[in-house]
Amino acid sequence: MGKRIDLHTHSIFSDGELLPSEIARRACVLGHQAVAITDHVDATNLDCVGRVINAVLDIRDNWDIEIIPGAEITHAPAEIIPKLAHKARELGAEIVVVHGETLVEPVIEGTNWSAVNCSEVDVLAHPGLITHEEARIAKENNIILEISARRGHSLSNGHVVQTALDVGADLVVNTDTHKPEDLINYKMAEKIALGAGLPEKELKKVLRDNPIHILEEKGIV
Ligand SMILES: [Zn+2]
Ligand SMILES: [Zn+2]
Repeated sequence: MGKRIDLHTHSIFSDGELLPSEIARRACVLGHQAVAITDHVDATNLDCVGRVINAVLDIRDNWDIEIIPGAEITHAPAEIIPKLAHKARELGAEIVVVHGETLVEPVIEGTNWSAVNCSEVDVLAHPGLITHEEARIAKENNIILEISARRGHSLSNGHVVQTALDVGADLVVNTDTHKPEDLINYKMAEKIALGAGLPEKELKKVLRDNPIHILEEKGIV
């Protein structure tokens, strides 16, 4: 079985319950190779990225897991997403996630469109009823679409998988962890991907090759 890579989690620096070290420890036990801590940010709290970086430096040096500082641009006006993505990068976010148009929150229309058109974005999270055109642009800009393990956000996983497969866009399975029980092992990630309609032959690409490719591009692994 492969090692897990999760590119979307929340710590106490936004609305998560866990310290970065607790996310790291629990993820280690569940067989993770790497976890990105991507706390919610908008224009008011981008400095949160720096706090995550300080918290993860120790873990990175001393534990057998890669903890990656990131940010999730959340409920921001669609037109300022590129600016926030750029600032988050400047502040040291290595993984930039955008909180996509999930079915279960009133995310501003145009968020998916703005995110896929911004090449500084790495992952469009829970993109709801993403269109084929948006998925095609995501592919062109190397932006990965998320299959979400999170209740509610997962309602449109089937649509996301089908749309991504139709246009050849890349997918990844993230948990969007907020609580201890949200982290999952590799086996569970496989089941969630299969449950969303991903063909078995695509499992390794989605669970290993796609996230590793992102990390390699950034020189993290
Ligand atoms: Zn949250
Ligand atoms: Zn999230």
